[in-house]
Amino acid sequence: MPAKILDGRVMSEALRTRVTAEVARLGREHGLKPGLAVVLVGEDPASQIYVRSKGEQSLAAGMHSVTHRLPAETPEAELIELVRALNADPAIHGILVQLPLPRQIDERRVIETIDPDKDVDGLTVASAGRLASGMPALTSCTPLGCMIMLREALCDLAGRRALVIGRSVLVGRPLAQLLLAADCTVTMAHSKTRDLPAVCREADILCAAIGRPQMIRGDWIKPGAAVIDVGINRVPFRDPAKAAAGKTKVVGDVAYREAEKVAGWITPVPGGVGLMTVACLLQNTVTAAKAIAGVA
Ligand code: NAP
Repeated sequence: MPAKILDGRVMSEALRTRVTAEVARLGREHGLKPGLAVVLVGEDPASQIYVRSKGEQSLAAGMHSVTHRLPAETPEAELIELVRALNADPAIHGILVQLPLPRQIDERRVIETIDPDKDVDGLTVASAGRLASGMPALTSCTPLGCMIMLREALCDLAGRRALVIGRSVLVGRPLAQLLLAADCTVTMAHSKTRDLPAVCREADILCAAIGRPQMIRGDWIKPGAAVIDVGINRVPFRDPAKAAAGKTKVVGDVAYREAEKVAGWITPVPGGVGLMTVACLLQNTVTAAKAIAGVA
């Protein structure tokens, strides 16, 4: 039997509907309007698309939404000043600085300026520390999306063997912490892992956050496993005419056609995890607004 598809379109739509209803309730019962500020420095085309979508979706959910677009040559001090102003702004409950930042700016210094209570991307050391200590924390949006998809597939995750391939601060590490908090037995793999195919074959849950097109082959996957493919890789088309015309397509880190024959559940790319990320950002902003306002 082919794997069941974990459809990011359907699941992100359902999450956005829940967030929209919660935003309306907070307005009705508490006069609270969750506010998200997104900051973009420079003209990176992919970042511009992400930022536009974050702005549009937060407005559609009934939230207060502001986008600050700064020129690529903005000095670090100016960006830090803006983040401090957003920290102090009572209408803003979530702050997201779109990465990557231009070279003259130290990303870590900017991220650490964000008030951890408004850190809806979960990137500050305080957020990572809270998560690793098992305390309530704002958590990076992509791993949250992965967890929603896994719960939809498996319901109870307790006791399952989960493998996370990739150890980035944005995806791999927080995802491993969330899986641990859900009582999985967690393994983390990375570029120095020995015999990755054998490690993969042990996993009931396989999460790939690598950035290597179709690296995970079908025969690495344990039959029936839930496969979450976080990778977003742009590759040339196989068709020589399209490739010659410079056309590209997006593929994941998992060889989908092989994996779907073996896995129990699988996320497609595109149409999977990527779509959950913005919906989870809206949810994080609502969570932050409730915590800051002290309402349930
Ligand atoms: P990253 O910071 O580049 O981290 C990649 C990780 O993969 C590193 O930990 C690296 O190991 C590991 N790795 C590289 N080659 C490997 C190999 N041959 N075998 C095993 N591990 C290997 O990437 P990231 O930011 O986490 O992103 C990963 C992928 O997810 C990218 O395709 C990115 O575009 C995508 N992404 C998607 C979303 C979404 O919304 N769906 C969000 C964020 C990222 P070392 O630590 O040893 O170098």
